[in-house]
Amino acid sequence: MIIVMKKSATEDEINNVLQKIKDAGLAVHVSKGKERTIVGAIGDEALLGSIPLKAIGGVEKVMPILKPYKLVGRELKNTDTIIDAGGVKIGGNEVVVMAGPCSVESRESILESARNVSASGARILRGGAFKPRTSPYSFQGLGVEGLKYMAEARKETGLPVISELMDPRDLDVLCEYVDIIQIGARNMQNFRLLKELGRVDKPVLLKRGLSATIKELLMSAEYIAANGNDKIILCERGIRTFETATRNTLDLSAVPVLKAESHLPVIIDPSHAVGFWQYVGPVSRAAIAVGADGLLIEVHPDPENAFSDGAQSLKPGKFASLIEELRPIAAVLGKTI
Ligand code: PEP
Ligand code: MN
Repeated sequence: MIIVMKKSATEDEINNVLQKIKDAGLAVHVSKGKERTIVGAIGDEALLGSIPLKAIGGVEKVMPILKPYKLVGRELKNTDTIIDAGGVKIGGNEVVVMAGPCSVESRESILESARNVSASGARILRGGAFKPRTSPYSFQGLGVEGLKYMAEARKETGLPVISELMDPRDLDVLCEYVDIIQIGARNMQNFRLLKELGRVDKPVLLKRGLSATIKELLMSAEYIAANGNDKIILCERGIRTFETATRNTLDLSAVPVLKAESHLPVIIDPSHAVGFWQYVGPVSRAAIAVGADGLLIEVHPDPENAFSDGAQSLKPGKFASLIEELRPIAAVLGKTI
């Protein structure tokens, strides 16, 4: 339920409304605008049935929230959310490029990658330490050791780091070392994992599931927000279709749709979408043109010998020239890279 307070509403009147909602067993979300305060009552609206909200002092009008994603939708908050990830702002005027290898492979290689991508203009370093591999016989990641190397790379380059969480048992150690927690496509609907993320004060990058609809992605984001963490970045990384020429099919239209439905930042991962380095540049250009707030790109110093996803990884030189190509596209939209 959305309760719009009158311009003249006093703090006491606002607090009174908040208390009544809490007493009824619902959670509250307060949005203080320049003109007026809007209160969201989140939970089972039937519990509010007996409270004459409209008759309470200071209340101007009461409306239902029509969308099922209440906290991440635009009905309750219509201003774009900007998320601070280790000092880098995502969702504002800068298109934030996150780059690095698919997996952290060794201390030396991640440090080298960090120096490379930083020099080319990336603002965040990516690298998987816990890898969701299709085969149990494939490289599974260096685990906590990999996270420590990421933290060392941050110390040397100043780049905040992002790495994937697969298991709630690793959440605390991830929080110790990384600036953004990535939830991979395969875990987008791992609801226990999403609920756990609610209890931490770390930005979460939530990837769209392999066969998930936009609504399902938003409902997964709602799980995280409803459990207490509203620092969420949405990521389109391609969905599974009948097409086999690319690894997945990049749904570019997800960007304007997500931006219309939600106030959260939206980024695109062109690498996992297309699966081949040759196509990463063209779809990155399109991603910026369509309004993405950032990109997550796989870059590897020696893709031929990468432990994972070499075929879709750009060499550092190609990555550097791609960033230069992207800058004027961002500029047309009044953004920087
Ligand atoms: C990754 O970013 O390395 C990854 C595994 O991505 P996704 O979850 O999109 O497949
Ligand atoms: Mn990968």
